Amino acid sequence: SIPLSFFSGIGNSSKHGILIKGSNYLEALKNVDTVVFDKTGTLTKGVFKVTKVSPVGISEKELIEYAAYAEANSNHPIAKSIVNYYKESIDLEKITYFEEIAAHGIKVKYNDLHILAGNDKLMSSENILYFPTDDIGTVVYIAVNGAYRGYIVISDEIKEDSKEAIKNLKLSGVKEVVMLTGDNEKVANKIANELGIDKVYSNLLPNEKVDRLEDIFKEKLPKEKVAFVGDGINDAPVLARADVGIAMGALGSDAAIEAADVVLMTDEPSKIAKAIEISRKTNKIVW
Ligand code: ADP
Ligand code: MG
Repeated sequence: SIPLSFFSGIGNSSKHGILIKGSNYLEALKNVDTVVFDKTGTLTKGVFKVTKVSPVGISEKELIEYAAYAEANSNHPIAKSIVNYYKESIDLEKITYFEEIAAHGIKVKYNDLHILAGNDKLMSSENILYFPTDDIGTVVYIAVNGAYRGYIVISDEIKEDSKEAIKNLKLSGVKEVVMLTGDNEKVANKIANELGIDKVYSNLLPNEKVDRLEDIFKEKLPKEKVAFVGDGINDAPVLARADVGIAMGALGSDAAIEAADVVLMTDEPSKIAKAIEISRKTNKIVW
């Protein structure tokens, strides 16, 4: 039977924009001692801005044009920033091939040119001879017909309440806060330092995020619960595997909301400490 206190807990959390899908998750939240965050769209806004354009052997305008055509059919936040920066209208009929490779980037055929736009993993897997840059930011390298043509740096901002969110989790007794990301090590470490995150894993493919979660489980006692918080782009398997999968509801994809046990309607990471607090109070109520 469902304890009556569950209804007060669910009611109280929904007032704070926290939707909990069942009494067992309210119970599990109480025992969360590790919170694992996705980076993009979860701790950061997921709204990227182009901060540098660095062409090789072509003009800046051409580099942006190639990148914009490569990204035109992608929904990734990176893609949106590049398309916005291009400003000119895009003739989708000129794109005769499009392939999105998760956590790598894009392959397209545009005006009979073979364009690659993505990270170092994409350049390596496509055997492109390129020059890795030291710039701190999310770097999109571009190659045209097999030749390296430069890079674009884009930057995301940390959400206003992310720092407070992690501080409050620690105050509430959560032992470890972890961040998983497909982004590069430099960006990941910079954000982790700023936010006071204990452990960071970067350059992860979507399936590797599940592997890291499995590693974390191995270090836990059965009673210690692990929460994962994500915005949903590629996160559904990790959300499903965690003891408590928490999705950002406003930005999050339908698949993430479906796979999650808890949905945050306002996308504020500070709601996680709130949810834990409510779960602990709820269980103390004696009927
Ligand atoms: P996160 O784990 O931070 O949410 P993703 O798994 O969505 O990030 O992406 C990981 C990395 O893959 C990005 O940082 C980027 O380097 C590359 N990438 C993914 N999608 C694209 C895209 N549409 N264009 C260029 N690069 C991309
Ligand atoms: Mg993401």
